[in-house]
Formats: sequence, structure tokens, C-alpha cells
Amino acid sequence: MKTMNRTMLLCVGAFLLLCACNETTSQKEEPMKTEKNTVTAIFPKGEKGSADLFTGNAYNYGMVAPDSTYTTAVGNVYFEPGARSNWHSHPSGQILIITDGQGFHQIEGQPIETLKKGDVVTCPPNVRHWHGASPEIGMQQLYIVPNTEKGVVNWEEAVTEEQYQQ
Ligand code: MN
Repeated sequence: MKTMNRTMLLCVGAFLLLCACNETTSQKEEPMKTEKNTVTAIFPKGEKGSADLFTGNAYNYGMVAPDSTYTTAVGNVYFEPGARSNWHSHPSGQILIITDGQGFHQIEGQPIETLKKGDVVTCPPNVRHWHGASPEIGMQQLYIVPNTEKGVVNWEEAVTEEQYQQ
């Protein structure tokens, strides 16, 4: 009887351990599993961007809030496939570092640049531009906006389907 109980206890213990392991695995893989691609996230997904500022689904995760010491905004944006920002400009420009996926960056009047993991792209001050994901694959971008005492971003109109498809 005592041996039986010990065996059962061991079985229950092993089962619980198995459950705990499975849960840890699924939690790690979960963040981008629901998307239509395999873009890997380094940072949390963050808050969904307003439909007034983005076409499609884009998520912003702020990491360094601009204050009087650093006067720099740092954060991550995840663009789902097809999602992109409106046209906009930054008073002191912007630096983008692509950490995964595939997307686009366009300065007004210039050809669309294709972006992929490891690319670094700068946009000069007060220049109209947009950035976003490719139609098929999402994009993870780190943004750095310097000299935020002059402002962070001036938002303008949406990027049309025709402009995006160029
Ligand atoms: Mn920008």
C-alpha cells in the first residue's frame, strides 16, 4: 500500500513537472504566434497605435521616455504585415534599427527603401517620410528620436494604397 502511494505520488509529480515545462515553452513562443509570419520579438508588443496615425495594426513599446536629461525617445514598433505609419516628420530627425522582419522606409520624393533585420536607417530633421512592414512579413523596428525638446513627431496624412504599392 505504501509503495503504491509512493508510485502514484511520483507519477503525479512527473505530470505536474511536464505541465510546468509545457507552459513555460508556450509562454515563450506566444507573442508573435498569432501573426501571419515568423517575426521574432525582443521587446513586449506594447500598445496598439491609433488608426488616425497608422494604417493597419502597429504596436508601440516605449523604453526611454524623453526627459530633460536624455532628451531622447527610444522605443520599439511592431508593424503587422501591410501596416505602416502616416506621413510624418521629426523636428530633429530619427534613427531606425530593424531587429527582425521586412519593411519599407520612404523619404518623400525618393524611392522606397526595403528594410530587413540589421538595417539602420536615418531620416533628417523635418523631412516628410513614412515607415512600415512589407505586405507579407511584419517588421520590428527600434526607433531613436533625439533632441526631443524640439518635439518628437509631427503627424500628417495616411500613406495611400497606391503610394504603398510603388
Ligand atoms: Mn519616422
